[in-house]
Amino acid sequence: MGSFVLGGVTFGNLFKKPATKMYPVVAPTYTAMTKGSIVNDIEACSLCSICAKKCPSLAINVDKPGKTWEIDPFACIQCYTCVRACPKDCLTMLAQYTAPSTTKEYKTLVKTGGDDEKAVAAAE
Ligand code: SF4
Ligand code: SF4
Repeated sequence: MGSFVLGGVTFGNLFKKPATKMYPVVAPTYTAMTKGSIVNDIEACSLCSICAKKCPSLAINVDKPGKTWEIDPFACIQCYTCVRACPKDCLTMLAQYTAPSTTKEYKTLVKTGGDDEKAVAAAE
């Protein structure tokens, strides 16, 4: 009985459109709830490293003396932990995926001003 049901589902799928899209050839549909990519308002960031310590996939590195904050977008699992943990509220989940790439490179941001400056720099 089970094999008849399975065969029916398989046969039926031959005449349906694919359930998946040919990303990135076909553009994805983004919504406000899309878990896309993390961006940092680097000039508001205090380089405290809390996000790096909380990240379960070790996707974030912070170098306070070097004034850099970096993220491996392909290691990020979009869990929101860093966004919730940041005491400066400078991390945001952008509702847009990281662009496909053949290399896995960190996105590095350099803090240029003091803590009271608010120039926004996106991690792209
Ligand atoms: S937790 Fe926030 S303020 Fe601290 S290093 Fe991360 S992004 Fe910057
Ligand atoms: S969303 Fe989660 S996995 Fe991605 S950088 Fe933040 S803490 Fe790490």
